[in-house]
Amino acid sequence: MRLIFTLFAILLCGIAGAQPFGQSQNNWNGISGDRTGQHQNTPAHKRDTLPGEVIVVPVVVHVLYNTSDQNISDQRIIDQINSLNRDYRRRNADTVNTPAAFRDRAADVQIVFALAQRDPHGNKTTGIIRKYTKTKMFMPDDEMKFSAKGGDDAWDATKYLNIWVCNIFGRLLGYTPMPGGDPKTDGVVIQYSVFGHGNGLSGPFNLGRTLTHEVGHWLGLKHIWGDSECGDDGIDDTPRQQSANTGHNVFPKISACSEDANGDMFMNFMDFSDDADMNMFTIGQKKAMRAQFALGGDRNSLLVSDALNINGIEEALQDKDWEEVVRLYPNPTVDYVIVEGRSLNDINGKYLKLYDMQGKLILSKRIQDERTRIDMNGLPGGLYMLSLEDMGERKMFKIVKTASGFSH
Ligand SMILES: [Zn+2]
Repeated sequence: MRLIFTLFAILLCGIAGAQPFGQSQNNWNGISGDRTGQHQNTPAHKRDTLPGEVIVVPVVVHVLYNTSDQNISDQRIIDQINSLNRDYRRRNADTVNTPAAFRDRAADVQIVFALAQRDPHGNKTTGIIRKYTKTKMFMPDDEMKFSAKGGDDAWDATKYLNIWVCNIFGRLLGYTPMPGGDPKTDGVVIQYSVFGHGNGLSGPFNLGRTLTHEVGHWLGLKHIWGDSECGDDGIDDTPRQQSANTGHNVFPKISACSEDANGDMFMNFMDFSDDADMNMFTIGQKKAMRAQFALGGDRNSLLVSDALNINGIEEALQDKDWEEVVRLYPNPTVDYVIVEGRSLNDINGKYLKLYDMQGKLILSKRIQDERTRIDMNGLPGGLYMLSLEDMGERKMFKIVKTASGFSH
């Protein structure tokens, strides 16, 4: 949750504490993390995260409005999602404000968010629902998550990140249960007046960071001060700090339990600072968030959500063995790889992405031919990951590049 003032925070953190807290498991060989019987009826195509994979999370935004002001524009929603993605990819312009002392632990989380293209019934959608509500002001009691109570029912939480944008009572900017709770109330609730990036919003919560913060909770992150005086957030590389920081601060800010002269990491997205002061997640926070998507993690099912797929091609492919559909050669290689589909139909329009083992994207290419040539000249020898994807599903192939010699 995020609030305007600290005093109020203490009051409302009690409410957050009443939410079931999920486990942040990092179990790469674990078994099913599914919580609902419902998901077990869907075809079994569970998979683990891949090193360096950029995870794509389908999003549905429920706009609940009582006044026209609250019925925020599509553009504002798109700007907010783009801002969220910049923060999670560390492509936000203000990374330059991360103090040098913390820069080496600042992370590109490699998680991105996209408005859903398919609703729970398989129909095309913009990922935005607009609904008039008689409720002038919602309390943080989840009523906005139920159509019968003046809100809008959640979409299947195993496939979508639900975001309810509405008018919330008091100084609360947003609140989010931790992973592992009731799927019907799973998701982010956010005050409409802080939803967006710029978009004529007034400061200091006008840069979309409330959503960045709340999604951090949705992915299991605690507040950086561990919600108690000099508490622990369970993350190794976030320094201990006395309590929440609010407003604007200047580095270094020392508090009662600072570990060293660098003091508080008040620019972390999981503090309460003004939007303009926030600019980083740490590598430890990245690991914790990504672990949610691993096998056994509470967000694992999102990896194979079909919500971003409208053309049905992927469903057809799920019944086939990908290796029969796509051929990759030569591998190992020296200077190039050919990706060849069994037919153009099988692969047309999909994206090829080449990553190195650190997860750095080297090239991205849309397939428009049965055969696509990928130039690997000039790349150092070693292992590479080639991802064939169409948002809804992806297949990763390993490519070995040898520095010299014959390519077969
Ligand atoms: Zn919070």
